[in-house]
Amino acid sequence: MQVLHQIPARQTRRHERTLDCPCHPSQTVTKRPGEQPAVTITHHPIPKDSR
Ligand SMILES: [Zn+2]
Repeated sequence: MQVLHQIPARQTRRHERTLDCPCHPSQTVTKRPGEQPAVTITHHPIPKDSR
């Protein structure tokens, strides 16, 4: 299965490439006839002061 991660620009270091990312990413599955389903993980911006 194909997994794509959409991470806000300039925040790539703050995000894990998993669904367990602290930003609580949302998952979307795209299916086309005759093709493997593709999963898009959409990450949300993490506030700079979060800790
Ligand atoms: Zn994330």
